[in-house]
Amino acid sequence: MAFKPANNIQDLQYFGEFGGVNPSISDSSTYTFLSAKTMFDTFEGNADGCYLYSRHSSPSNLYLGEALAAMEGTETANVTASGMGAITPVIMQLCGAGDHIVSSRTIYGGTYAFLKNFTPRFNIETSFVDITKLDVVEATITKNTKVLYCESVSNPLLEVADIKGLSELAKKHNLKLVVDNTFSPLSISPVQLGADVVIHSLTKFINGSSDTVGGVVCGTQEFINDLRNVNDGACMLLGSTMDSLRAASVLKNLRTLHIRMQQHSKNGMYLAKKFESLGLKTVYPGLESHPSHQLFKSMMNPQYGFGGMLTIDVGSLDKANALMELMQEKNLGYLAVSLGFYKTLFSAPGSSTSSEIPEDEQAEMGLSDGLIRFSIGLDADIERTFEMMKACMVELSILDDKKQAELI
Ligand SMILES: *Cc1c(COP(=O)(O)O)cnc(C)c1O
Repeated sequence: MAFKPANNIQDLQYFGEFGGVNPSISDSSTYTFLSAKTMFDTFEGNADGCYLYSRHSSPSNLYLGEALAAMEGTETANVTASGMGAITPVIMQLCGAGDHIVSSRTIYGGTYAFLKNFTPRFNIETSFVDITKLDVVEATITKNTKVLYCESVSNPLLEVADIKGLSELAKKHNLKLVVDNTFSPLSISPVQLGADVVIHSLTKFINGSSDTVGGVVCGTQEFINDLRNVNDGACMLLGSTMDSLRAASVLKNLRTLHIRMQQHSKNGMYLAKKFESLGLKTVYPGLESHPSHQLFKSMMNPQYGFGGMLTIDVGSLDKANALMELMQEKNLGYLAVSLGFYKTLFSAPGSSTSSEIPEDEQAEMGLSDGLIRFSIGLDADIERTFEMMKACMVELSILDDKKQAELI
């Protein structure tokens, strides 16, 4: 039987100490032991089910981790204080001095900056490639390569990684395939397609209420144990631990993720089609015109759709800024970075979230000045939203002359 994500979340059952329908929150940094011997065994990693200290693990974090592992179909997971707090320990756990990483060149700005500017201090080098070209990826692998790194749907250009193809390369060359699935929770299940480790920034769709940062690493029990090891585990030693109160809060939001993703995807698809019909250069994996539309279709869990992220190119940064300001004034969304909120969020990546990437490299990867990235909200009346957005575009003469004349 095919693996069905989210169904496993619905089947999870944890009660609170007093039979509450939500698990009790573990509001403790440290834990008592009935015997000194058990404390020693726990330090050695030999006492299952015993808690030691909350930077290592806590009941609330384990509940959230298990729910996310159920979503991704991995053995287990470890939640972290932020998405970057998941990405950086995974890289540092898998790589040491002299090692090499092959990474997609279109990735989250913070991840790019970490790999480009920070890890070289530890003599870890990264080659950035066009991840959609498997032959280029393979040609870039060296005898020192340890990790293939990509986002299933990339930020901000919405390129789609061929996870099956990449996992075959990873197996052939004995590498770990690490996939950041932040843009496509539920829609794509990277481990089912052969990835070794899946990361999310919980800050985005999964928590969905823009009230916290958070992250998760989903993988095998062995890898997650390694990350938590008191002697050499990167999560344990770098200390990017999520707080228990927050873990309990994210878990409650996670339960509605499947419904929210369906609405984000429905609204995203509607607006993408409409924007394209206005003659705007629109990128959305659900459009036939997307270069990887078929690939996305071949990988997706269809009931969750093509996601809530889309981009349009309005020609120049000035026009992009004017449009975003006007849309905000009309209460169509917020001029803000991040994604996955109930309100639509828009930003110009070239001057914001991807500003870590030098301008010449931005140009080379097709990241133009007039690009606006939208995280489409949960609007109940998306038809009205579109009509109002169209009116903003007409007011600012964003559309080509012929369309403009037609619409006035
Ligand atoms: C936001 C984001 C991150 C970083 O997550 P934080 O929670 O902000 O640390 C990583 N990857 C992607 C794709 C993101 O969108």
